Amino acid sequence: MRLCIFAKSRIGVISDLSVTDVSALVPEAYRGDPGMAMNFLIRNWASSGLEISRAISALPKVPLASVQLSAPVCAPGHVFAAPANYQKHIGELGPRAVTKTTRTAREQGFFLIAPGSITGMAEGITLPDRAGRRFDHESELAVIIGKGGKNIPRSKALSHVFGYSCLVDLTMRIEPGTHEEERSMRKSFATFTPIGPWIVTADEIPQPQGLSNRLWVNGQLKQQANTAEMIVAVDELIELVSSVIELSPGDVIASGTPEGVGPVVGGDCVEIEIEKIGRMTLQVR
Ligand code: MN
Repeated sequence: MRLCIFAKSRIGVISDLSVTDVSALVPEAYRGDPGMAMNFLIRNWASSGLEISRAISALPKVPLASVQLSAPVCAPGHVFAAPANYQKHIGELGPRAVTKTTRTAREQGFFLIAPGSITGMAEGITLPDRAGRRFDHESELAVIIGKGGKNIPRSKALSHVFGYSCLVDLTMRIEPGTHEEERSMRKSFATFTPIGPWIVTADEIPQPQGLSNRLWVNGQLKQQANTAEMIVAVDELIELVSSVIELSPGDVIASGTPEGVGPVVGGDCVEIEIEKIGRMTLQVR
């Protein structure tokens, strides 16, 4: 199933080229609050998923092309992120890298991005006013947690995934010797975490390693890789994060970027496409 947020706060299910409005199936208290509404659906998917399947044919439909899509998850408890998780990306930043090349990706662990930095296609990316700084795109597979848990073993980890989406991890780079702010700050500016265009539920993607992951700026292909090249795979990332803190339904894990990261400026158009998920187009202001 493909789940989206459209018209700012409506919950939609996408089939072919139309969107069915399933907002009526969310408890009244959560309607109008897309983050709470989607978190409710994810947390209660065993029943809410069934209810949606039963009710969907009788609910109102609109053409997909007529709606504005926002981030399908916009109020996760956590956004975890893997640094340096593709071999060819390691080293390409030269002195701007903060990850130590002598450590394995597994030893690096994870960092956090503020959930408030999430944005979607309808809102796009707004760069902050920071003279002389470079802002880079990073093309990543987003993992959305369904069933939470602590100390989840790798062998069971994929059964904890609710679904997948595309994620651009916008980053203000360090300038060695002058500006070396913390990573979580440099990635947490408002609109620096676009997610979308929708969530594809995990039943449609039983194996998240093996998906092409591509990103274009103004139509020029900048990043092209396959999730099979991840150093720490999705199941191991879930094992790693849940060994530190309990994962909750709706939590997001940004799984790391391949090589080809580079700057974006106001006026650019960034497009990310991950196989079996779809393409998200973002305007940069
Ligand atoms: Mn990243």
